[in-house]
Amino acid sequence: MWKYLKKLSSTFSSWMINMSADDFGIYVHIPFCERKCIYCDFLSFTIRSIEKERVERYFDALFLEIEKKKESVSNTVTSIFIGGGTPSVVEPKLIYSLVEKLEESFVIAGDAEITIEANPGTVKDNDFSVYKDAGINRISFGIQTLNDDLARFLGRIHTREDSITAIKNAQRAGFENINADILIGVPNQSLDVFMSTLNELANLGIPHISAYSLILEEETCLYDMIEKGVVIPPNDDLDRQMYHKCLEYLNSKEYMHYEISNFSLKGYECRHNLLYWNCNEYLGLGLGASSYINSVRFRNTSNFGDYLNGDFSAFDEEVLSEKDKMNEYMLLGFRMTKGPDPVMFYNRFSKYYHVVYKDVLDKLERMGLVKTGNMKGRFISCSLTEKGYDFANQVFMEFV
Ligand code: SF4
Repeated sequence: MWKYLKKLSSTFSSWMINMSADDFGIYVHIPFCERKCIYCDFLSFTIRSIEKERVERYFDALFLEIEKKKESVSNTVTSIFIGGGTPSVVEPKLIYSLVEKLEESFVIAGDAEITIEANPGTVKDNDFSVYKDAGINRISFGIQTLNDDLARFLGRIHTREDSITAIKNAQRAGFENINADILIGVPNQSLDVFMSTLNELANLGIPHISAYSLILEEETCLYDMIEKGVVIPPNDDLDRQMYHKCLEYLNSKEYMHYEISNFSLKGYECRHNLLYWNCNEYLGLGLGASSYINSVRFRNTSNFGDYLNGDFSAFDEEVLSEKDKMNEYMLLGFRMTKGPDPVMFYNRFSKYYHVVYKDVLDKLERMGLVKTGNMKGRFISCSLTEKGYDFANQVFMEFV
């Protein structure tokens, strides 16, 4: 779990992109990376350890999975997210064929958001035009920091210069919708180093920034290093300081704080992530990918060999009851700074959330963690307070 960032402004709701209750997404997992970063526990393998032929076989398996599952999706797809791992580490022609296959197999909305995650250390200038030709319209760069010493410490394979060049190349190729993921609260990261990264990225004119506090995950190198005392763990106070400065700075640059860790210029919110936070349905394709369809959550196998051999069965199936769905809607809805949408809740469950959750919301309001917002006719909205953002997990636990 990532730590949660604090709210800056509550004047954003009218800026939100048009998110429909019918939005449906596809996530495709590409489980390869050039090198494993010391803090990462995502399902990914070092590409050098996998022969080229097995990467191609992975794409063959993906296409087969698409073929097998396409009939089960009748929804119009409003967003596609090609994530990983590092999708930009594979040959761009494979990504081109993947998008082509998705387009042949599903009904994709004309205005669909199609994102690819890219590592500045693996993406070449020409790759962007291939992505563009494929129909990809959003690039999400894993930058994490523009400080070379810190990047090296984290095991990143790129320098500050690589990151800036990659962003400029993407812009030159015609990509406007660009995100940069950055980290807060990394061991050895000073406030100045963090602010300098933020400042440079905002000045490059990218419209979306995701700023996550680093969380130590067990079974990572960083965890072991801290356990052995080789590295001093990140300082919580400094993490908070960076967070507050981040909000202040991005606000001054007209970025809207629309989710705990996400900031965008007007109209550039990530449609795919909004879909998750609004509990819409999605199909996950590829190794270990999760899906949520017809009230059932399930995931693909995480065994690479089994996946290559065509095991596309559903693992860990969980059928969500009406109550589960309402709870999840509230929990994820509170991630967004406008809070769970009371109208969408009513349209889905024929209930008012301020009635269903009256006791819980009253309690959270008394604790100063939640506040009542706008009233739209008979609907009352709720969202986290400033204090609530510091204790967001406590709020979420009420809906688990
Ligand atoms: S590039 Fe991303 S997915 Fe790959 S190891 Fe690093 S953090 Fe993990």
